[in-house]
Amino acid sequence: KTVDQLTKDEAETLAAKLRPQLTAWGQAYYTSDAPEVEDHVYDAVYAQLVAIEAKYPDLITADSPTQNVGGTVLTGFTKVTHDIPMLSMGDVFSEDELTGFDERIQTNEDERIAYNCELKIDGLAISLRYENGQLVQGSTRGNGVIGEDITQNLKTIPSIPQKLNRPLTVEVRGECYMPKDSFKKLNERREAEGQPVFANPRNAAAGSLRQLDSRVTADRKLSTFMYNVADFDPIDARTQSDMLLELTSLGFTTNPTNRVAETMDDVFEFIKDYTGKRDDLPYGIDGIVIKVNSLPRQRALGATVKDPRWEIAYKFPPEEAETVVRDIEWTV
Ligand code: NAD
Repeated sequence: KTVDQLTKDEAETLAAKLRPQLTAWGQAYYTSDAPEVEDHVYDAVYAQLVAIEAKYPDLITADSPTQNVGGTVLTGFTKVTHDIPMLSMGDVFSEDELTGFDERIQTNEDERIAYNCELKIDGLAISLRYENGQLVQGSTRGNGVIGEDITQNLKTIPSIPQKLNRPLTVEVRGECYMPKDSFKKLNERREAEGQPVFANPRNAAAGSLRQLDSRVTADRKLSTFMYNVADFDPIDARTQSDMLLELTSLGFTTNPTNRVAETMDDVFEFIKDYTGKRDDLPYGIDGIVIKVNSLPRQRALGATVKDPRWEIAYKFPPEEAETVVRDIEWTV
């Protein structure tokens, strides 16, 4: 049966099965950096829960994985409170669903809202706080509101400036990732030493950043692409694309592939381009992020408890070798 065909009682029973399963998978992924299933399996089960909760909103529970940014804080790290939360992101898996996102954004027929298309880097989110141009704190996303203080570890990453080119007080956010060749070498080394290998570059990056000894992080060859600011007021830009240029001029590394899309055809073209180029990139990507380009409009659109309304991730279909989701049966 599809979610649509379930009675409310059946939907409630299924939701009560899916939530603890997703929470357990989330725990393995976010806390232990050792996923038990492939991402697309998690995504498919998560999408079922979203569908149930969309049909029966009174079945939503406060502890549902759909209502919380996944992630926890490891003991041993000082906690950091994110005054402006670090959120997750909604995702879609087809051009039709992406068109649905566009229809929710384009509410004014007389004025088309432009997007900025970016690569969805397969790493983990970090936040860097600068006071008068000096790096004072770096943290993980954690549960979105409370993250881990990993300042010393982030200071070992060459792409992160310790001093900006201007004395700004600003909080910059982005992705920390492990390049494909570093990942390959790290796993070869671990295998030779009889240590467990990392499942993918994302988990390797997360495991490498959340180390109590900064020398381990320094040895792991991590890199970053910054793509956001907690609050855009200190930044001299009013669009997402100009903000990326501004971040570059401040000394950050940003991903150079971003492109402004005036129409959905431009968006689909970008997706097609990078679906083809994906394997040739020196870092992993798991999709394309489409963002409303105007920063004031981003702010006006705001967010749900979990996801900004002004951006969406288009996720690539799973690669052939991966498990086929329909093999996993969810019955009531
Ligand atoms: P997400 O990783 O899908 O999307 C949000 C994140 O995208 C942001 O926090 C940011 O870190 C990142 N990002 C990368 N490039 C970006 C860019 N250009 N602009 C903005 N953000 C960018 O969401 P999530 O809440 O972190 O986690 C859900 C994901 O984790 C799903 O993809 C799911 O498959 C995976 N997951 C897998 C398992 C598993 O067991 N395999 C368990 C839990 C979660």
